[in-house]
Amino acid sequence: MLAITGFAGLTVGGVMGTGGHGSTLVHPTSLSDQATAMTLVDGRGDVVVATGDLLKSARIHLGVMGVVVNVTLPVRDKIKLRLETQVLGEEALLNDQGLLERLRSADYAFILWLHGQKKVLAAEGEALPFETEGDDVAISPVTAEGLDAQLLAHSQRNAAFFCNPAAGPLQNSTITGTFGNITTAGCDTPEACIFGTPWQDLAIAVDLADLPAALRRARQVMDAMSACMPEWLIRLHGSSDNHMSMAWGADKAIIDLVFAIPVAADEPAVFLGATQAVFQVLMHEFGGVPHWGKNGPAFWSKDFGPAAERFPRLAEFLTDMTSMDPSGVFQNAFFRRVIGEAEVEKFPGCALTAKCICDEDAHCGRDQVCVTPTLPDGKEIGLADVADSRSRIRVCEFS
Ligand SMILES: Cc1cc2nc3c(=O)[nH]c(=O)nc-3n(C[C@H](O)[C@H](O)[C@H](O)COP(=O)(O)OP(=O)(O)OC[C@H]3O[C@@H](n4cnc5c(N)ncnc54)[C@H](O)[C@@H]3O)c2cc1C
Repeated sequence: MLAITGFAGLTVGGVMGTGGHGSTLVHPTSLSDQATAMTLVDGRGDVVVATGDLLKSARIHLGVMGVVVNVTLPVRDKIKLRLETQVLGEEALLNDQGLLERLRSADYAFILWLHGQKKVLAAEGEALPFETEGDDVAISPVTAEGLDAQLLAHSQRNAAFFCNPAAGPLQNSTITGTFGNITTAGCDTPEACIFGTPWQDLAIAVDLADLPAALRRARQVMDAMSACMPEWLIRLHGSSDNHMSMAWGADKAIIDLVFAIPVAADEPAVFLGATQAVFQVLMHEFGGVPHWGKNGPAFWSKDFGPAAERFPRLAEFLTDMTSMDPSGVFQNAFFRRVIGEAEVEKFPGCALTAKCICDEDAHCGRDQVCVTPTLPDGKEIGLADVADSRSRIRVCEFS
C-alpha cells in the first residue's frame, strides 16, 4: 500500500470507515480508495460481498453499513522515499506561484503553513527502489532541532514559536528511508507520543483549485483577529468516487488545523475565537467538507446546511445503508445528526471543544461572549462577501 494515514496505531475498519488518508495526487491516498473488495456482515446477520456501486458505499462505511470482516487491499514491494523539504515564504502558497502544480506530480507531498511565521514548509517525495541507500525515520521532515521546535508549537501555549516570524530553526532538508517510516509515525511509548498533547485536529477539505484563495481569506481573518496559531498541515487527496468521500468529484486539499482543548472545563484555550472563525469561513465560503474521523458535532449542525450539500452521493449511500441494515441495528446518534434527524445539542461550554457553534455566551468559556467578529472596515466576517444568506459566523471572545 502507498500513502496512507500519518499514524500507525489505527485499524483497517476504522480508517476505511472514516475515509482516513495520506497525501498524494499520484496514487490513491485513502485506504478506502485502494480497497478492491470487502465482506461485511449486514444488519440481518447475512454475509455480503460488496462489489460495484455497493462497494462505493461500503468503502467509507461510517460504521452504519454492517461489520466489516474482510478487506482486499493491493500490496506492493517495499519502496524507499526521498523527501525534500523546502522552507519558503508563504506567498509561494497564498499567491499560487506554481508550488501546488509542482506537488501535484509528487509520489508523496504535503505543506505545513506556519502562518505566524509567514512561511511554508513544502515537502515533496519521490518513490525509489528499496535498494536505495538511506534509513531515515521521520515524524516530520525537519531537523531534530526543528522537530523540537515543532513539538513546542504543538504544545500550543508556546506562542513564542508559532507567532514569531524569526523563530526557528527551520531549514531545507532531504531525507531518505522506507516509505512507511517517512510518512507514518507511531508511538513506541506513551511518553514519546506527540499525540498526547492537548489539542484536537480539525480537518476540512476544500477544492484544490480554491486552496490559495481559502488561505488568503484565512490570513485576512486571523490578521483581523490579531491571532496566530500552530501550523496547519495541508495534504492532497485525489478525486474519489466513493459515495461519502471528502474528495468526491474533485481533487482536494485537506486542511488540518489545531483546535486547542481547554485546560479546565470553562477556561478557553488560546486562539479559540480565530480557530472558530476560520473553520466556519472554510465551511461557509469555500464549501468545506469535514473529515469523518476528526471533527466535533459542530460540523454536523444546521449552521452548515444539510449534509447532502457537501456529500452529493448521500442519497445513494442511504439507499445502500437501508438495504444492508433495514431495521437500523447499526444506527447511532452521530449518524442521526449527520442526516439531520437529530439536533446538535448545545450546552454550557459546548463551543470550547467544537461540539457546537455558540449562539449564546453560556456556550463559550468563563468571561467570554458569543460574537460575530468584524474586519478592520467594520464589516462582519462571513456576511460581507457572500452572495446568498448564510448563518452568521459566531465565535467566543473575551468580553
Ligand atoms: C493519532 C491519530 C492520527 C491520525 N492521523 C490521521 C491521518 O493522518 N489521516 C487521516 O485521514 N486520519 C487520521 N486520523 C483519524 C483516523 O483516520 C480516524 O480517527 C479513524 O477512525 C481511526 O481509526 P480507528 O481504528 O481508531 O477507528 P475507530 O475510531 O475505532 O472507528 C471509527 C468508526 O468505524 C467503525 N468501525 C471500526 N471498525 C469497524 C469494522 N470492522 N466494521 C464496521 N465498523 C467499524 C467504528 O464503529 C466507528 O464508527 C488520526 C487519528 C488519530 C487518533
